[in-house]
Amino acid sequence: MNDTNEPNTEIENAEAVADALAEWWHASARDLPWRFGRTTAWGVLVSEVMSQQTQMIRVVPYWNDWMERWPDAVALADAAKADVITAWGRLGYPRRALRLQECARVVASDYDNKLPRTYDELLALLGIGDYTASAVMSFAFGERIAVVDTNIRRVLSRVFLGEESLGGAARPAERALAKQMLPQDDASKCRRFDRPSVVWNQSVMELGATVCTAKAPLCEACPVSGHCVFLHNGRPGLGERRTRPRQRFQGTDRQVRGLVLNALRNLPGGATALNRKSLERLWDDHIQLDRCIASLDEDGLIEILPNADVRLPV
Ligand code: SF4
Repeated sequence: MNDTNEPNTEIENAEAVADALAEWWHASARDLPWRFGRTTAWGVLVSEVMSQQTQMIRVVPYWNDWMERWPDAVALADAAKADVITAWGRLGYPRRALRLQECARVVASDYDNKLPRTYDELLALLGIGDYTASAVMSFAFGERIAVVDTNIRRVLSRVFLGEESLGGAARPAERALAKQMLPQDDASKCRRFDRPSVVWNQSVMELGATVCTAKAPLCEACPVSGHCVFLHNGRPGLGERRTRPRQRFQGTDRQVRGLVLNALRNLPGGATALNRKSLERLWDDHIQLDRCIASLDEDGLIEILPNADVRLPV
């Protein structure tokens, strides 16, 4: 693919791919609780924020508990920070929880507790980028808009161009391809989640998550294998990426920050803070430990008390 605004290939098999994927979606889509019109737009947004760094299937129990406790923006806006951080559990990158609460406050106060319905207004909310705004527009509101994430880029690039997308930031040509392939919507389909563009976005993403994975695509079980240029070409450069492999987790600041937060979430009955001794028992390298405590404090995820105890924010 070139780096201009246009994909460099005429796509001939688009309709056949869309039909095969739609059939596969209706037969095989995972029955996640925020799909098929069963939740509010707010619930869709929560699912998207939770699954930004976490596999969707792992998100389900967190999402269920969260939505039962805080079903809308007003409820989350009023929650105690410590409860929000605790409920985020092991979803990772816990700053996302606080940003979601900030976003809830704006939705509650400026939008009468309803998510705004335009891409630009969504994008202006804290913690919502292009992907999440597009996903909410498509999955929650049924609008015809191209959703571009890593899975979608990988599948479109393989099926239609016969090459790996290589990861990194989305290139203009990849966005243009996603737009070009988006099916027209049929006005007679009034269920939002059944519109062709919505089914397309969701099914391509689902294929990338479950079948057309980065390193080991299950081509023999793929509903579009008969149309896939990448497979036809012998899967050239399978798994090649432009970005460096993910940083190991063991020994990183992320691990130490997680240990501190986890200890705070699971304090024994009645305790509200961790003292210095308990903190030092969590990690031997106390310089790294202090750096992580300071960064958690800076991110608003913990509070350091005058006697150096730490606690979740109140
Ligand atoms: S045939 Fe293989 S490479 Fe092509 S879309 Fe399906 S799983 Fe991906």
